Amino acid sequence: MEMVPAMPASVSLVSLRSREKPRACAGCNGKIRDRFMLQALDRYWHEDCLKCACCDCRLGQLGSTLYTRANLILCRRDYLSLFGVTGNCAACSKMIPAFEMVMRARDNVYHLDCFACQLCHQRFHVGDKFFLRNNMILCQLDYESGYLNGSTDKQSQ
Ligand SMILES: [Zn+2]
Ligand SMILES: [Zn+2]
Ligand SMILES: [Zn+2]
Ligand SMILES: [Zn+2]
Repeated sequence: MEMVPAMPASVSLVSLRSREKPRACAGCNGKIRDRFMLQALDRYWHEDCLKCACCDCRLGQLGSTLYTRANLILCRRDYLSLFGVTGNCAACSKMIPAFEMVMRARDNVYHLDCFACQLCHQRFHVGDKFFLRNNMILCQLDYESGYLNGSTDKQSQ
């Protein structure tokens, strides 16, 4: 399972002070020798190198925001058209709007609040083991007892 943050990052224009060594561009790996460069996502970029992966527009306009997802850097427009609606939560079937944190398991997405064992309602955390059975999320205990009994129905012990 992975937690997918959908947070916009801001882009700022910074100038190199004369004594500083040129920085490497995170886009092309070349040295940045221009007087101004862009700073975004804790890295430095040539003004021409920080581009939307989809439409190639430059993201260095003043006050720009960029969006990242799955290692893609996108402008707001493309971000919204690609991820505008994250999908429907596999647990409660309600829509998950863009920019909301979601949990992803295989092909399913879940509200953070909905990502819990559907039998005992225990919440999962990143790194916890969980299991999918008939599209139900189960904790290890419930999964194993269901598996051993051949059914997820409650059985007397
Ligand atoms: Zn560059
Ligand atoms: Zn774009
Ligand atoms: Zn939900
Ligand atoms: Zn459980």
